[in-house]
Amino acid sequence: MTEPSYVVAPPPTISIGVRDSAARFPVHRIYCVGRNYEAHAVEMGHDPKRELDPPFFFLKNPDDIVEPGTPVPYPPQTADLHHEVELVVALQSGGSDIAREDALSHVYGYAVGIDLTRRDVQAAAKKTSRPWATAKAFAASAPVSEIVPAAAIGHPASGQLTASVNGEPRQKGDIADMIWSVPDIIAHLSRWFVLAPGDLIFTGTPAGVGGLERGDVVVAAIEGVGQLEVTIR
Ligand code: MN
Repeated sequence: MTEPSYVVAPPPTISIGVRDSAARFPVHRIYCVGRNYEAHAVEMGHDPKRELDPPFFFLKNPDDIVEPGTPVPYPPQTADLHHEVELVVALQSGGSDIAREDALSHVYGYAVGIDLTRRDVQAAAKKTSRPWATAKAFAASAPVSEIVPAAAIGHPASGQLTASVNGEPRQKGDIADMIWSVPDIIAHLSRWFVLAPGDLIFTGTPAGVGGLERGDVVVAAIEGVGQLEVTIR
């Protein structure tokens, strides 16, 4: 069979490095969970009893990913860029209607991510009942560390997450405090979307989110998973 030709250049495959591996993790989609830690839901002005509601989701674009060592340009159209440290789940397989008990068998590994957010744009979107795309899915909005295989570290159900800015502590939480655990998230998400190998899931952020300025250095870390340093330029 001959190679197809294209009327415009096909996009490159987006991928992330894997710890202790020459092979890379190719990225299919980026799903994100909203309000998955009670203390962050409260700081955003929401009812802490919302854990009774099902989780909700939004997306970023694969090419929003920023790899370690690459600075993030301060994005246009915002005056309030926020950091959100999050555990990122990388899927090696997928499907629909995945049972909670089977969910972890689909996980290749884990990473540390920062869900960069135009908070002012998000606040306006909430007020006007408009979608979050411009608040969440912009260029360089998804810095991610290398992926650590579950084969090496298992499936962390607890572990401290922190984010500091210029050495000053900002965010602190524990992945044990997620309202929806990783298996819960995969089970719920797979009712709405057909999950696939290469999908990433940002699992929500603990309390302490805050604004960033040009020149700031954010260090995000998750115990047992890794650390990610990002400079805003
Ligand atoms: Mn988030």
